[in-house]
Amino acid sequence: MSDVKYWNPTLETLPQEKLKSLQLRKFQRILRWAYDKSPFYHRLYSDAGLEPGDIKTFDDIRKVPKTDKAMLREIQATKPFPYGNILAVPINQVTEFRQTSGTTGQPVYHPETWQDWEWSAESWAYALYAQGYRSTDRVFMPFGYSIFIAFWAAHYAAEKIGCEVIPGGVLDTEARILKMQELRATSFMATPTYILGMADTARKRLGIDPAKDLFVKKITSAGEPGALVPATKKRMQEAWGAKVYDQVGATEIGHWGFECEAQSGEHILEAFHLVEIEDIETGSPVTTPGRSGSMIVTTFDRLAHPCIRFDSKDVVRLSTTEQCECGRTFRLLDGGVIGRADDITKVKGVLLAPTAIEEVVRSIPELGNEYQVVVTKKGDIDDIALKVELLPEHKKERKQIEERLINQLRLKTNLRYELEFHEYGDLPRASLKSRRFLDLRGQAH
Ligand SMILES: [Zn+2]
Repeated sequence: MSDVKYWNPTLETLPQEKLKSLQLRKFQRILRWAYDKSPFYHRLYSDAGLEPGDIKTFDDIRKVPKTDKAMLREIQATKPFPYGNILAVPINQVTEFRQTSGTTGQPVYHPETWQDWEWSAESWAYALYAQGYRSTDRVFMPFGYSIFIAFWAAHYAAEKIGCEVIPGGVLDTEARILKMQELRATSFMATPTYILGMADTARKRLGIDPAKDLFVKKITSAGEPGALVPATKKRMQEAWGAKVYDQVGATEIGHWGFECEAQSGEHILEAFHLVEIEDIETGSPVTTPGRSGSMIVTTFDRLAHPCIRFDSKDVVRLSTTEQCECGRTFRLLDGGVIGRADDITKVKGVLLAPTAIEEVVRSIPELGNEYQVVVTKKGDIDDIALKVELLPEHKKERKQIEERLINQLRLKTNLRYELEFHEYGDLPRASLKSRRFLDLRGQAH
């Protein structure tokens, strides 16, 4: 039997200059497609006095108007039902329906054609291959196959590479762990919240130590930024005795970044996406490594619902590492998505990124994985409370742990918090995405 190639990893070592000219060609093509086929995009560009032929160089790309999630919500309310006038293919070519899993606001519907779907699986295949997935892997998928895109494309990508894929959909957490043990799964994919939650359940309810009693060697983490928050990555890797790799994407954008086996940051999947970074305050382009900015993404070759210069509001930072030791030429981001332009907020006049709090809480081993931050306003004064869980075996050291927590928080975030210690297991747990940062200042008390 010949070795059938279901996917094509040929673009990941192109020199940056060649990659840029490929990106320009792909950008021109999707721009033309959207202008010709999508009434929404045609109007957006006509109103701006722009025609696809105006984009002749890489720098011209900045002339193209941006889009964002609020626009997508508005479009969805227009005719025809249910995607509004952005759809760039006849509706009978749509084969997949998903919707965004955001924790706030009306979900955005997302259509894909069969070709788009193949493309999504291919983009995940680049990531999984870079993380060492091969045809010898038995991959367990502990997620509810649902209306959210989550790990659907990852499932097909693992199949494209030739892995054996076990859909662990309707099982509960304990049954999933036992199945993984029974079948000797070598890898799985989940959100950081669930990766930690599963390890907890294995130890406490089943008496199974995932690092010793299971066969998992690598885990792909997606949906939340934890795998590139050093303290969270360390917790996950230690709990499972496995490498944990980050993977980033969003329903409307696709899978645009991944960590490789070298674990030196997040590679941008530049053969599939154009990532531009803009200064959060001035909007000017950020090209200097080490400086952070808001990410604007264009997704090439996704035809039903084109995504062109989409302002993701994700905050990212280019890495100072120019060449990754894995040999891939795709540029690296330091720390993956380090925050949301929406989430980075001023508390008591200080700029605060919620991931900084996560880093502190998870670097203190006597505390549980869960925490919650609540920001409120009393009169004109902001109040910030942090709820943490103290592990039962460390109850007596509470005073000393509290001091360490206060010091670390002040050092890393320049703020003082009202601390609340809870019993282990008291704070809410979620299996998909957790909402750990609650800003209630706009609400009456
Ligand atoms: Zn690499």
